[in-house]
Amino acid sequence: MTAAQLSTIIIASVTGLYSLLLLGASMISLAERQKRAAAILLAIALLMALAGWAAATFSYPGKNFLALLLLADIALLLWLLLKPPAGEKRDSGYRFMPARVVDERDTIFARMKLKPGTTEYNNYYTARPESRSPDDEARSLPGLLSAGGTKYHPLNFAAAEANFTLIEYMHKAIGQPVSATKTEIAAPELTRYIKKWLSTLGAHSSGITELKDYHLYTIRGRGSERGRPVDKRHRYAIAFTVKMDMRNIATAPASPVIFESSQRYLDSANMALQVAGLLKGLGYDARAHIDGDYELICPLVAHDAGLGEIGRMGLLMTPDAGPAVRIAVVTTEAPLLPDMPKPDPTLITFCRICQKCADCCPGRSIPYGEMERAGGVLRWKIDSESCYRYWCITGTDCGRCIAVCPYSHPDNIMHRMVRRVIRRSHLAAEVAYMADDILYGRKPKAR
Ligand code: SF4
Ligand code: SF4
Repeated sequence: MTAAQLSTIIIASVTGLYSLLLLGASMISLAERQKRAAAILLAIALLMALAGWAAATFSYPGKNFLALLLLADIALLLWLLLKPPAGEKRDSGYRFMPARVVDERDTIFARMKLKPGTTEYNNYYTARPESRSPDDEARSLPGLLSAGGTKYHPLNFAAAEANFTLIEYMHKAIGQPVSATKTEIAAPELTRYIKKWLSTLGAHSSGITELKDYHLYTIRGRGSERGRPVDKRHRYAIAFTVKMDMRNIATAPASPVIFESSQRYLDSANMALQVAGLLKGLGYDARAHIDGDYELICPLVAHDAGLGEIGRMGLLMTPDAGPAVRIAVVTTEAPLLPDMPKPDPTLITFCRICQKCADCCPGRSIPYGEMERAGGVLRWKIDSESCYRYWCITGTDCGRCIAVCPYSHPDNIMHRMVRRVIRRSHLAAEVAYMADDILYGRKPKAR
């Protein structure tokens, strides 16, 4: 076989392979109902096939060199897929938070519960006069799940309201008593059982960490517990995530988003109460931390339990479902085996490049640029006031940042390969960021 014949075979094979991969990616995008991405990928696949046919069929100077280049390209791709993940220095800073700094009374959710004219309202805004005017402005807007919201939908709003009401009833189950009889179970067996049960119940991921002081609020801010200092009663925290349905999230900020959030909060509350109930039945003190009744900051616990990193939008970013999850936590004194967290600094690296959520946020609440030190932590701090104000206008919990995040793409073979390559090369992360903009748009339309 001559060198020219060998070059013809190599060019035809490599370009044929790339065309088939692109065609497959186009089909997957069509199944994801991403028509723009499907059309672009199909066009590139056809162009690649045509160019490959021409490059393989005709003779021209440099044909052998082109064949070598294509071989090198394949070798580079294989190396990127197979090499160990990039060992960047961890830099999220959360791990080194020194002490508790967050008073739940300062969170926007607690502030919005304050009723003008009450003693609590007067006391709070006397101590924090700078918050009174923006908070009163938010109170004057239609509000979450209000019929006056711009995204009002009678059925989705009523379904979400029903879910949140049910969760409020579930708060009463948090105080369920602990059995007086203790059943000793070894830590490995109990850990295995709980994780398997959570998975059977539908949890997307679960992890265990030692409960740290900085996971907890300093003082409770909502309901009858308002003003009570939070004690560290338990040694361990079980964190788990429940995946959200992207068909609903992709409509953000429309009403299916708040239905989806409420449904996943309800699912996770149910699971957390089940696990806490199991532990209490065995005679170990435990507490479920569920929507509207948390003693701790769920993303921090989930992060330390190894479930993901905290990205630009301030939410937990899981490696395979991105921010499209809801979290619940159970704390307990029962013997458990903590996980060894596997930090993924490439998520943070990608957030540094991407900034798509900041570009798409209708509330202008997500920062651009680098992380900043806030409250003892190096992080991106979102403007929760402007975010909540936007929720009060739409009546939904928006979720546009979750919908547009490249990490929210479905966990199928195409996106899994992209995530794998991103984890291994900074250059690949840059290319993936540009490709995401081309295929889905810098500001993707709500679906
Ligand atoms: S949209 Fe981009 S910057 Fe925002 S959280 Fe997702 S990956 Fe990070
Ligand atoms: S929920 Fe909406 S307003 Fe809030 S940060 Fe995300 S995109 Fe912005």
